[in-house]
Amino acid sequence: MSPQEIQSIADLTAKFLGLTIRPKAIIKETSRGYAWTDKGWFTMPQWAIDHSEECAMYIIIHEICHFLNGGLDHGTEFASVEDRALEFWNLKIERTKKNVYAKKIISKRGVFSI
Ligand SMILES: [Zn+2]
Repeated sequence: MSPQEIQSIADLTAKFLGLTIRPKAIIKETSRGYAWTDKGWFTMPQWAIDHSEECAMYIIIHEICHFLNGGLDHGTEFASVEDRALEFWNLKIERTKKNVYAKKIISKRGVFSI
C-alpha cells in the first residue's frame, strides 16, 4: 500500500466520520500506531503495511477514530464508532474481551490474525 493510498483511506474515513480535519499519516518504524490529536497527524507502523492490506486499513481507521470529538479514548463509544467506520470499508474485527485492539480482521478475502 502506497503512502498516497494510506492518506486516501485516512481522508475518506475522516470524511465518513464527519471530521473537519484530515489527519496526516506519518509512516514510521514503530511498534504501534498513535493518534496525535492535538497536532493533526497519526503514526502508521511500517509492519502493518507489510502485514496485509487489511491490517494497514484497520490501523488507519483505528487511528482516525481517535480524532472524533477532539480526541476519543478507547471505550464503548470508540468501539462503536470504529465498528461503523470499519463497516464502511467492508471490514470487521474481533476484539479480546479486555482489549479494544483487534486480534482478527475479517474481510471478503479472509481472516487475518494480528
Ligand atoms: Zn487506539
